[in-house]
Amino acid sequence: MPTLVLASGNKGKLAELSAMLEPLGFDVKPQSNFEVEDAEETGLSFIENAILKARHAAKATGMAALADDSGIAVPALGGAPGIYSARYAGEHGNDGGNIDLLLKNLKGESNRAAFFYCAIAYISHAEDPTPLIATGAWHGEILQARQGEGGFGYDPVFFDAELKRSAAELSREEKATRSHRGQALRALVQQLNERA
Ligand code: IMP
Repeated sequence: MPTLVLASGNKGKLAELSAMLEPLGFDVKPQSNFEVEDAEETGLSFIENAILKARHAAKATGMAALADDSGIAVPALGGAPGIYSARYAGEHGNDGGNIDLLLKNLKGESNRAAFFYCAIAYISHAEDPTPLIATGAWHGEILQARQGEGGFGYDPVFFDAELKRSAAELSREEKATRSHRGQALRALVQQLNERA
């Protein structure tokens, strides 16, 4: 079974990706297994950063690699937090601070539309000129205050108007059917199947 290196150490992502990619014949392993350092994310878009991360992992390991890059974009804030979603409030991964800053910046704003976005890149080898790219977007609104206990990141303030619940009020399965990441992953699997 060929190994596919995941350019992330996130255990949740590894489980999700393995479940979808193992039936296609891939053994998904995190880049930390090969002592690969994190790539510098110098791109200005999710797609550019996903490609940078996947290519970095493919170069360092000599194997096929996959990376995802995701975040939330708020049109009323010019697309912010965007690619800086994880460190909107300064320090990387400060979910509470990020939500507080988002709510503060949207105070008094009537346009509360927002979308989660995910780009996934698959690179078959370090010099691959034709990476596979899949994206997904999940549209909703930013609530006035947190709602729900589940999920992570911006989930408690992201409202899905069709389900009438916040992302933090959805089961893991419900979220996967709606989410940016679920959409992108399913699209990537389809592309891999078509290429095989
Ligand atoms: P990463 O791509 O997993 O590093 O995610 C970047 C950042 O975007 C996270 O730290 C979260 O703040 C935010 N984010 C990405 N996907 C989600 C999601 O499904 N729910 C909530 N926040 C998310």
